[in-house]
Amino acid sequence: MGLSDIRNRMEKACAEAGRDPAGVDLIAVSKVQPNDRVEAVLEQGHRVFGENRVQEAAGKWPDFKARFDGVSVHLIGPLQSNKARQAMELFDAIHSVDRPKLAQALARLAQELGQCPDLFIQVNTGEEAQKAGVLPADADGFVAECRALDLPVKGLMCIPPVEETPSLHFALLRKIAERNGLSGLSMGMSGDFEEAISLGATHIRVGSAIFGERVPG
Ligand SMILES: *Cc1c(COP(=O)(O)O)cnc(C)c1O
Repeated sequence: MGLSDIRNRMEKACAEAGRDPAGVDLIAVSKVQPNDRVEAVLEQGHRVFGENRVQEAAGKWPDFKARFDGVSVHLIGPLQSNKARQAMELFDAIHSVDRPKLAQALARLAQELGQCPDLFIQVNTGEEAQKAGVLPADADGFVAECRALDLPVKGLMCIPPVEETPSLHFALLRKIAERNGLSGLSMGMSGDFEEAISLGATHIRVGSAIFGERVPG
């Protein structure tokens, strides 16, 4: 447990997969964690974090960004179109682009602001009714739609169903990314990031294994 342990495990997984560790970004998922735990990880030199709610991120990251240089914060949770502006101002990357209405809102704002965070399209690889993301069958069309809007699409993101073997979902995501010429793969969490690395993850999202269990609130 903890940052250095995760770093060691990442390096080992990269070595086993014949990959350069520099090709995998560790997103430390700080949602719901108390600020002192987040600060401890910042003090250890880590700079890339993930949050799943706009409001929560707005409450803590402007302050941390003012105190620590080089911080980037990634939105990994669902985004409502009416929070798109705030999200674009707060986040350095958004991993949950999943529908035309949101893509259009982001494109309008990108025009207006003259900049846009790195974007990942979320794919609902398990085709779960309750989960966000475009269906695998709709992914190619949606990638094309986002590109036509001039959005900076860097890759794809997925959250596999809890009860299924994650590697099948990671492999599917990779296949969709490859055929669309996308190099970014946001996949793998505390329980399965090593498998994700072996299947090509470029961004792993690890929360509880770094910070400890989230305190339910
Ligand atoms: C919370 C969360 C994570 C991190 O989960 P852990 O199991 O704590 O590593 C990763 N991705 C998303 C989208 C999340 O919401």
